Amino acid sequence: MKLDSMYQDVILDHYKNPHGRGLRDGDAEVHHVNPTCGDEITLRVRYEGDRIADVSYEGQGCSISQASASVLNELLVGKELAEARRIQETFLELMQSKGQLTPDDAMEDVLEDAVAFAGVSKYPARVKCALLSWMAWKDATAQALDDSAAKERTP
Ligand code: ZN
Repeated sequence: MKLDSMYQDVILDHYKNPHGRGLRDGDAEVHHVNPTCGDEITLRVRYEGDRIADVSYEGQGCSISQASASVLNELLVGKELAEARRIQETFLELMQSKGQLTPDDAMEDVLEDAVAFAGVSKYPARVKCALLSWMAWKDATAQALDDSAAKERTP
């Protein structure tokens, strides 16, 4: 199917030319692994209030896991937290659809390049690859926001 090969090109392009790769200053750092595939990611988030100032990362593994981190960086940096959460939840919904969900225009507007992973949702083992960096972001965000809340409580 033509759409599938177009999607593959998007994933391959992010893999070869990752956005925002490399570790920079962050409020929190997490390290997540996907043992079934051998993917690893170290991810840092930096917040300015409710806005995501940066998501930086280093990782290794399959093209899907690494491309997904690049897409995440492109989609989430500069976004308000509420908007980023909506994107993350929409991506999760797509990835848990077992190939049954065809992204519509509204979903494409939210997910942009991340819709390219729609075909991946048919393969349970690969879904973990695609979600690795997103779970890492969620975890790092929880830690970063916890820390800033703790700082505010300290006189
Ligand atoms: Zn993988």
